[in-house]
Amino acid sequence: MSDLLLHICCAPCSVACIRQLREEDVEPVGYWYNPNIHPFQEYKARRDTLRQYAQDIGLELREHDFYGLRQFTAAVASNPDQRCGYCYACRLEDTARYASEHGFARFSTTLLVSPYQDRELICATGEKIGARYGVEFAPYDFRPRFQEGQQEARELGLYMQKYCGCIYSEEDRFSNRRKKELHKLHKQQGQARVQPGCAC
Ligand code: SF4
Repeated sequence: MSDLLLHICCAPCSVACIRQLREEDVEPVGYWYNPNIHPFQEYKARRDTLRQYAQDIGLELREHDFYGLRQFTAAVASNPDQRCGYCYACRLEDTARYASEHGFARFSTTLLVSPYQDRELICATGEKIGARYGVEFAPYDFRPRFQEGQQEARELGLYMQKYCGCIYSEEDRFSNRRKKELHKLHKQQGQARVQPGCAC
């Protein structure tokens, strides 16, 4: 049995991660739990794309199939600009709990492929949660293969999302007003980006 449970945020991001792990002779078991993807049609598109991709490449996939719009928005509504910490933690916590209950020694996440996500925060959160559940968080760095993986996903015709996942990131991506606000905030803070996200 595999010792690694790999949380998968979407099929395109998983391409490079699974390839790298297999090259290192690690056969992961995939795990779908993403209550942060909104609205429901988008959630379904990403989930179903992963189901098909897993079948195509012979990846064992487990699922916690839960569309968590209400819970997610209730949890972050008081400070939506700080939402990503909660988003990482809830997904990693569910993955660690599942790993611990099903005999996996380690867990990781395909979030670690994206140069647009906060790697430091993901790793710190994963380590903390892993310690609580007695499973090791594996801090793989898949980022060098991000572009290659995205290119392969396009060539395979996988559904490619246009925004990170939550309804707030959809607004950040498509609303001109939000784009202006974020631009202003970036300038004030001297940062390239304020919120992590997915530019797939
Ligand atoms: S921007 Fe992405 S990582 Fe941040 S809360 Fe939304 S879905 Fe989660």
